[in-house]
Order: sequence, then structure tokens, then C-alpha cells
Amino acid sequence: MRLPSDALKIIDTLNGAGHAAYVVGGCVRDSLLGKEPKDYDIASAAPPAEVKRLFRRTADTGIAHGTVTVLLGGGAYEVTTFRVDGKYSDNRRPDSVTFTGDLTEDLRRRDFTVNAMAFHPREGFIDLFGGRADIEARLIRGVGDPSERFSEDGLRMLRAARFAAALGFEIEPDTLRAIYEKAPLLTGISGERVTEEFLKIIGSENPENLRTLADTRLLFYYNARLHDYLAENLDKIISGLRRAPGLPAFFAFADEPEGLLKALTLSNREVKDTLGVLRGLRREIPEDERAARFLMSEMGAELFWRWLDFRERFGGAACEKAREYARAAEQAPITRKDLAVTGLDITALGARGKQVGTVLTALLNEVLADPEKNNRRKLLEIANLLLQSDVIRDTMY
Ligand code: ATP
Ligand code: MG
Repeated sequence: MRLPSDALKIIDTLNGAGHAAYVVGGCVRDSLLGKEPKDYDIASAAPPAEVKRLFRRTADTGIAHGTVTVLLGGGAYEVTTFRVDGKYSDNRRPDSVTFTGDLTEDLRRRDFTVNAMAFHPREGFIDLFGGRADIEARLIRGVGDPSERFSEDGLRMLRAARFAAALGFEIEPDTLRAIYEKAPLLTGISGERVTEEFLKIIGSENPENLRTLADTRLLFYYNARLHDYLAENLDKIISGLRRAPGLPAFFAFADEPEGLLKALTLSNREVKDTLGVLRGLRREIPEDERAARFLMSEMGAELFWRWLDFRERFGGAACEKAREYARAAEQAPITRKDLAVTGLDITALGARGKQVGTVLTALLNEVLADPEKNNRRKLLEIANLLLQSDVIRDTMY
């Protein structure tokens, strides 16, 4: 396994100060799979205070759990002290973590064999639980007794499905049996943690793994409505996600996606964008530049592109031409801010209160229909006409 030079430097510095240090977890797994790791996590015997002493620039990311971020050469590396998780009294989070000098103990607390390997530039791979064999066999297998491990932390069941989906692996039979047995323990796991894993499943290349969620009824114990929706629409959802991974395809078959979306812990923005894309499901694909301008103006450029993308991939709509129209529309004036006049100009013409907005909207419609009209003199002329007309004069203010 080849490590970036900054990761090597961090390991050397820790080793030089007398502390064991390895890269661990996802990066070891991904490199054995022949994939470029997205980040390199380091585990070390050095306690957090010592890590902070040894490196000039650090951040206390999760210092209570032993994680310090080391900033080096433009990159950020999480260095986590070897630890053993304390007792789990609520099958969600350990009551405490205890630091240890022993790599073996640190690897034993990890969830799956493929995630429980370490690598050191001189010692090579440390594989105590058969992770390499499971990578060969493409299996997600719990470290130790899967039932016990799921009792400690119920989220691991959802993580099993997530890694199976992300890697295209099967869940090993004993581990799968344990999910059936322990599924009710997903109750009470925090929305943030569940949502993070759920989004990775529906964003993965192997959405068939949603079948595991439906069969084991895992989601039922998190949110019964979400489970019912999934179970009732399973085949459609899976084939939709295969075409267009992500939230809109997952919720495309719901009568009321908004209520279901609330089951997840999403930002307002994510909810709004998903609903925006879904509402546009039956809208016409623009057939000329004019239609593209109006639609882009209404949706906003960002949502428009997401919507078009979704229509193309999910609905199989032909969008080549529409893309061309939309690229032209993006160059044209499509928001009030793009107009050659401002609210102040309209006020100067004698408009008051709500009249200002009404006039600006009317001007924007003119300009969307004909971008040539976006010059100051022409727009002021139109505005004047409008202000003399009954419709605008009667606008309440
Ligand atoms: P990804 O590349 O998707 O980030 P990852 O393996 O880095 O995958 P993370 O969720 O970032 O996954 O977790 C990092 C490592 O921490 C895992 O590889 C695993 O060893 C360990 N880990 C994370 N969450 C748990 C958990 N709930 N129980 C046990 N070990 C865990
Ligand atoms: Mg990670």
C-alpha cells in the first residue's frame, strides 16, 4: 500500500517519539480493493495531548474520543488514540472510551473485518480477523460475535447494509442472521447517524441492498412509515436509484414525500431541493430558449440543472437540446437582479409599497419573453405605462 508523503511523515514523527502508529480502517480496505482511499485515518498509541505536542497545527476534532486532526501540507489527517470502548448501556454509544497502547484492542472494537485492518510502511498489513480473505470473498462480516456487536451499537446493522451497498459485497450469513435478530435495536439510534448511513446506501452503486433493509425490517424500527413506503415500492425504488442515485429517486413514488422526508435528519436545503425536483417530475422539458428562461427563472439555475439531470437519468427524457437552450438561458437576464432597472428606479416613478415588486415582476416577464427588452430606457417606459394602468394603480399598499 502506498501512503501519501504527509501520512508517512505523521507516522514517522509518532514512531520517532516512541509511539506505535498505523493507518487504519477505510483506507486500508479501499487500497486492498484497488481503489484510491478518500482519506487516511491514523491510529496511534500516543495520547491526544502528545499528538498535539508533536505537531504544530492541530484541531481538537473529537478529543473526548481521542481524535486530533493534524494539518500538514494542505491536507488534514485524523489521528486517533488506540482505544477500547467502554460498556454500552444503551446500545448506541459507549458510556466511555479508554485509551490503550495496544493496536489489537483497537482493531477488535471495529465493526467489520474489512474495516479492522491496519498498515504500517515497514510492518506491512496487520490483519487479525481475516479482513483480506473477506475482501477476496466480498463479504461484510462482523468482528467477533455479530449479535453482541449489534447489541453494543445498533447502527452497525445499518452500516453493514451501507458497506455491502458501497462495495458491492454480500453480508455474511451469520452477520445477516444477527441483523434479523437484533433489528429492533435500531430504535432510538439518533436521526443524524441513521440518515448518514441511509444517504450512503441510496447514493451507492448497489441499491439492491435496500432489499436487506426491507427483508430485515431494519428501518421499521427507526421509522415505521419509512419502512412501509420502502417495502411497498421496493422494486420501483431500486430500479429508480439504479438510474439516478439519491433522495429524489428514493422518494419519487410517494404520494406525500414531504412527510416521509421528515423522518430523516436533513437540512432544510436538502428537503427543499428534493421536493423541488419531485414537483417538476411532470413538467415539460423546455423545447426552446424562451421556455428554458421561464423555467430556469422560476426554479433558480441550480435546481433547474438538478431537475433536468434527474429527468434525463430517472425518467429517460431526451435532454440534449434542452441543455443547449438552458446554457443560452443562463447567459440571459433571468432574475430581478439581472434587470437593467432596480426597485429604486421604480420608486422614483412614483410606485409605492407592493407596487414596486409587482412592476419588477412584470418587467422580468417581459425580459424573459424577450431579452432584447432589458435596457433601462425601454424598461422605464414599460414601467410608466404599467403604473398608469388600473391593474397596478389598484395594487394595495
Ligand atoms: P468511508 O470510506 O465510507 O468513510 P470508513 O471505513 O472510513 O468508510 P467511517 O464510518 O468513516 O467508515 O468509519 C471509520 C472506521 O471507524 C471504520 O472503518 C471502522 O473501523 C470504525 N467504525 C466507525 N463506526 C463504527 C461503529 N459504529 N462501530 C465500530 N467501528 C466503527
Ligand atoms: Mg471514513
